[in-house]
Amino acid sequence: MPKKRKSRGRGKGDKGKETKVQCDGCGAWVPRSKVKRVTRYVSYVDPQLREELESKGAIIPRVPVTKYYCVSCSVFQGIVKVRARECRKEREKLG
Ligand SMILES: [Zn+2]
Repeated sequence: MPKKRKSRGRGKGDKGKETKVQCDGCGAWVPRSKVKRVTRYVSYVDPQLREELESKGAIIPRVPVTKYYCVSCSVFQGIVKVRARECRKEREKLG
């Protein structure tokens, strides 16, 4: 059977079963290696106030927030894009 992607859409290899994680977009349970992980640094301070404080030299802490997205949610949100047939064979930068 021809393969659509070299990795079959995940990074499992011949490992067998994997733990599943829940998608932060739709709540689906997705294998850990198939999921798209996005880490963003967010500040809990109001953006307008933060800008004002930072202009005066204050350092506002930013907390890393890691989210997991299933393939369809990451396509919908623009994290990954639908790629042409040839490009699919290359390894994705985001894992
Ligand atoms: Zn999802």
